[in-house]
Amino acid sequence: MNQDSSDTTPLSPITPVKLDLDDNFQFACHKDIACFNKCCQSIDIQLTPYDILRLKTRLGVSAREFLFGHTVPFEMDGHGVPGLKLRTKDESTQCPFLTEEGCGVYEDRPTACRYYALGLMSMRKKDSSVDEDSYFVVKEDHCLGHKEPQVQTVRSYRQNQGVDTYDELNREWRQVVLKKRSCGPTIGKPSDRSLQLFFLASYDLDGFREFMNTLSFDEVYEVAPEERERLQQDDVALMRFAFRFLKQALFGENTIPERADAKERRLARRKERLGETAPSDQPA
Ligand code: SF4
Ligand code: SF4
Repeated sequence: MNQDSSDTTPLSPITPVKLDLDDNFQFACHKDIACFNKCCQSIDIQLTPYDILRLKTRLGVSAREFLFGHTVPFEMDGHGVPGLKLRTKDESTQCPFLTEEGCGVYEDRPTACRYYALGLMSMRKKDSSVDEDSYFVVKEDHCLGHKEPQVQTVRSYRQNQGVDTYDELNREWRQVVLKKRSCGPTIGKPSDRSLQLFFLASYDLDGFREFMNTLSFDEVYEVAPEERERLQQDDVALMRFAFRFLKQALFGENTIPERADAKERRLARRKERLGETAPSDQPA
């Protein structure tokens, strides 16, 4: 069908055909292609928690240093759920990791770069506990990869790009995002506290590690010393634990043991704090 000549709506680069894992699509990207690096000249890349973990490790910086230096915040939905995008080079739309030879962080490039020129859509049917993934092809004018003769299945493309590992490690986080989005207006806007927890557990692993060592974590959750030690040493294990924590704190999906006397401990500490700041205790 031709687009009406009076219609000025920009054409979407998304091919509206849903693909499953064993469906074929035609595409190849390589160093000798005329458009090499074009896609990295103007980026809009949303980062996942595992993207951040890989990139900060690659760059040898802390999670916080990475967040400050390499990301820009945005809201993932109308309720202000925080998302992060990769910051471009100063006064440019280019990726900061782009070099003349190609991607400067290729082995640790983000999920969105691995997927391109495929898009992913995850949905969950009502009353189902399983997400259903489907894929679509993204065809942008500058990308000549679609003219290459190579045909492959979505499954083999994903394997070659190393997307499987990234998706597996981000799965629980995507479930949290999907669930938060599908809560709808009846649940209302999430509290500031839950948005802060979401940010901390999703993106700031250093902050989450510190949070695990606070009294307010300790008075609620019971984590065995050897498990605690493992989480302190292993970033991937800590990230996965943080996703479980989020599911528990936001949706009551309990997988981390809680202390039987958590409520009492919290109340006692609150009373103690109030006592400390009672007006009679304040300097005149
Ligand atoms: S991370 Fe690498 S592949 Fe992704 S946009 Fe930047 S240079 Fe391109
Ligand atoms: S073929 Fe597409 S993805 Fe590959 S370098 Fe060219 S524009 Fe980028």
